[in-house]
Amino acid sequence: MNCIYLTHGYADGHYVLPPLPYELSELEPFVSEKTLLLHHDKHHAGYVAGANAAADELRRINSGVLGAEHAACATQKLAFYLGGHILHTLYWHNLTGCLGGRPSRGLATAIECSFGSFDSFYKLFVSVALSIQGSGWSVLGVDPVSKRLMVCGICRHQDVLVPGFRPLLACDVWEHAYYLTWQNNRTGYVEAFMQHINWDNVTQLFEQSCYYEC
Ligand code: MN
Repeated sequence: MNCIYLTHGYADGHYVLPPLPYELSELEPFVSEKTLLLHHDKHHAGYVAGANAAADELRRINSGVLGAEHAACATQKLAFYLGGHILHTLYWHNLTGCLGGRPSRGLATAIECSFGSFDSFYKLFVSVALSIQGSGWSVLGVDPVSKRLMVCGICRHQDVLVPGFRPLLACDVWEHAYYLTWQNNRTGYVEAFMQHINWDNVTQLFEQSCYYEC
């Protein structure tokens, strides 16, 4: 399945750092240029490099160059780094400098169906983001079994992640995402995040997920 937020994350046999879909100043003052530059060019780039190294290690295990006893450790590394690559790519595309958007079409209906109302979803998503201890993400996505929308709290980039869960909207609450501007005010950062969501992007991703049934 073609997934619009991941189409630029892999090329010529390697994971690659996709360009930001907007200028560095696009999200000011919510996300400063300096934060966005460091977050994309250093942190996200580091996850891409780590994912390539872990994938290469797994390939050497699969071809018999390295012993199978290394597979679990290599997989843990790939889950962390590739999880970071996927979630950061989603995060960039989930954001916009245009304020005040709302979900539309089927996504608006699905949110009402799954959470009761948009306001209930909003409060839940923010609460999950604030409840993460240390580093992690608040994520809206589709549960592949119940086929309903869920808001999940993900520690680091991959812990307690349900296999097959399809993320649509991801809020990064690692301190590197906000500390230069917001310091310890995670609440202010998350509330600002909610105002900068590119709901057209989230709606497109929802429509691509194909397996939602209200
Ligand atoms: Mn991050």
